[in-house]
Amino acid sequence: MAKQTHRPALLQRLPDRVVGLLREIGRLGDERGCQVYVVGGVVRDLLLGHVTLDLDLAVEGDGIAFARAVSDRYRAGLAVFERFATARLVFPDGLKMDIATTRRESYAQPAVLPTVQPASIEEDLYRRDFTINALAMQLNPGQFGRLLDAYEGQRDLRARTIRVLHAGSFQDDPTRIFRAIRFEQRFGFRLERTTLRLLAQAASTNLIAQLSGPRLQNEILLLFAEHDPVRAIARLAQLKLFRFLHRRLCYTTKVKRVVTAVPKALAWWARRFPDSVIDRPIVYLMALSSESSPLVVAAMIRRLVLSREQAKNVNAGGSRVGRALKRLTNKGTVRRSQIFRLLADLSDEALVLLLAKQVSRQHGVRLSLLKRHLVAYVKNRMIKTALTGRDLQAMGLKPGPQYKTILGKLLDARIDGMITTEADERAFLQKRFGLVG
Ligand code: ATP
Repeated sequence: MAKQTHRPALLQRLPDRVVGLLREIGRLGDERGCQVYVVGGVVRDLLLGHVTLDLDLAVEGDGIAFARAVSDRYRAGLAVFERFATARLVFPDGLKMDIATTRRESYAQPAVLPTVQPASIEEDLYRRDFTINALAMQLNPGQFGRLLDAYEGQRDLRARTIRVLHAGSFQDDPTRIFRAIRFEQRFGFRLERTTLRLLAQAASTNLIAQLSGPRLQNEILLLFAEHDPVRAIARLAQLKLFRFLHRRLCYTTKVKRVVTAVPKALAWWARRFPDSVIDRPIVYLMALSSESSPLVVAAMIRRLVLSREQAKNVNAGGSRVGRALKRLTNKGTVRRSQIFRLLADLSDEALVLLLAKQVSRQHGVRLSLLKRHLVAYVKNRMIKTALTGRDLQAMGLKPGPQYKTILGKLLDARIDGMITTEADERAFLQKRFGLVG
């Protein structure tokens, strides 16, 4: 039987509108004759003194029917995943909530998704990854704020320990290996001794290789999306887990330096260009594979089934960024337009990596030079020519590939400050290409 305490004040740390909503949902539970709980990360975070609004609810009864009732009452958007007996709601104010039927899970074979059967809340908590996540608080009136801690989650939170609930946990679901590292590094907790042994054991087998690409991608990118993933990346390396991305992906000293420099590069970029939205996890993945051969990178992209855009970034992270960096930090002058051409097809993520690579080299002078180049380049991206293809047509030039060349030259001249007005542009075209109009 679950260890219980009554902690309604804990739930009251959530914003008032959320507490109000949870109370109403608890009442709806009573109306429909089912027990409703908020479970997992929210309870853990409340006990740690943090407020997160990623609400996971578990219902002893028909979770999907309950989710439909909540969705009807609050006009919340609803997506139902019958196979997993879960539903996701999005409330009109943007609040998200997952509602699931309490269940037990069985794994037909390791590393595949489980089959689920309705079960009690205690059993539902038992199928969870770690004791600190196997906590629930009831929402029904009269029981509002009743804390269920069947597996000593509070003790482990106090001891700052990550502990699995049973010895087969990592075998059942190897994504828990990555989750363990994620929580360990996020909270500065440590893995309990047996849990570490089980994790190392599972990591040394081929279990992770059996995970599907999307599930592995999800875990890797979630880990890299943490506030400071550098130590987590080192932990993955220590446990030799990068071999599951590619057997030749190595965490060499050079790669480690680049990865370690990424937070600095990201911070500089965010300060300088606050409007640029960076896919941070991808920058870490680019840094991690930045010294690998194109063949290794391509295989890693396939293993993780990255999207086209992610793949383009990760591909550029190798030789493209390396070449650009070499040119930009070389002694001797480079024209602004040359820099523009060098960087034009690189994404902002690739530019952050470029900077991180230079930060990792600890060469102050060249780093300042590179930062100046980057600032100038981003500013130059705003520059447009006054004349367009239509003007070239009016000048009697037949449409064709030369349009791109000519307009490119015009843009270069603008970027280099040789011309500044439309009249300058016309004069430039006349002088260089004999075009008049
Ligand atoms: P985060 O703060 O990173 O969102 P979370 O604990 O809320 O962490 P979720 O991935 O949102 O994590 O999962 C919600 C809950 O579902 C977890 O707290 C845990 O109880 C359970 N859970 C999630 N993934 C697993 C898993 N792979 N195995 C067992 N239980 C899991």
